[in-house]
Amino acid sequence: MILSGRKFAKTVRKDLAEEISQIGGRPPGLAVIIVGDNPASQVYVSMKKKACEKTGLISRTVHLEESVSEDELLREIENLNQDSSIDGILCQLPLPEHISDETIASSILPSKDVDGFHPVNVGKLWRGEEGLFPCTPTGIIALLKYSEIQIDGVNAVIVGRSNIVGKPMAALLLREHATVTIAHSHTPDLPGLCRQADILIAAVGKPHFINSEFVKPGSTLIDVGITRTSEGLRGDADFEQVKDICGAITPVPGGVGPLTIAFLLSNTVKAWNRNR
Ligand code: NAP
Repeated sequence: MILSGRKFAKTVRKDLAEEISQIGGRPPGLAVIIVGDNPASQVYVSMKKKACEKTGLISRTVHLEESVSEDELLREIENLNQDSSIDGILCQLPLPEHISDETIASSILPSKDVDGFHPVNVGKLWRGEEGLFPCTPTGIIALLKYSEIQIDGVNAVIVGRSNIVGKPMAALLLREHATVTIAHSHTPDLPGLCRQADILIAAVGKPHFINSEFVKPGSTLIDVGITRTSEGLRGDADFEQVKDICGAITPVPGGVGPLTIAFLLSNTVKAWNRNR
């Protein structure tokens, strides 16, 4: 089974558009801050803006020079924290080296932190409380449920331990009662460990890394990796090699990628519902 994130993301966005128009009044507002002229960041920001417009959210882009000081950026964030027309704020990564990701993540109000990177939301995630949680792993859980793939009681292995994907993915799978293992570059016998996974999440960023040696027959493989190559976008899986071994697999492109934006919008609508 090919798990089409693209198709599911469309359904999610349609449901959000309906919810926004039914509730009416002030629409949800998302502010996206971009620092500098990184071409990939510009593409992501414009995709987010388009998705907002199509779904009925108001989006505001704040474009700052690469040389902006951390204090100046913090002032911009404080203005947005105080702005009652803005429900969600995100700062597009990567930031220039002179600006600390952690300082910026901690300066966004937890109630507007639609990326789910603020320590308060990270704490809530691990404590099993309500909050705003990172979009990619939230979208993956929703896709698994939508595709009726069992999470409760299964073995889940995540390759990658970043704060954006690997760690929050583990916390969300744990909430759904999976038995979770996080693997990384120091993990011995990675293929052997991955072959025990009923759900394998690959968030490495190395094309063709996950081959037939890593995959248990009939398991679900969620390929989070996105690498731009001369032949186009590539995931972490050697798709042709593993697709007939897996029971279900997300393609790249069209798998996890579209979920991230859909669940950014979903987080913004969630924040709007609370902030209104
Ligand atoms: P990251 O911060 O670079 O983390 C990569 C992880 O892979 C690290 O934990 C690293 O282990 C691990 N790793 C690297 N080489 C390994 C090896 N040989 N064996 C085992 N583990 C290894 O990346 P990220 O931000 O999590 O992103 C991962 C990928 O997902 C990237 O391709 C990114 O573009 C993509 N991504 C996609 C979406 C989406 O919307 N689809 C969203 C976010 C990210 P160590 O910690 O030991 O170094």
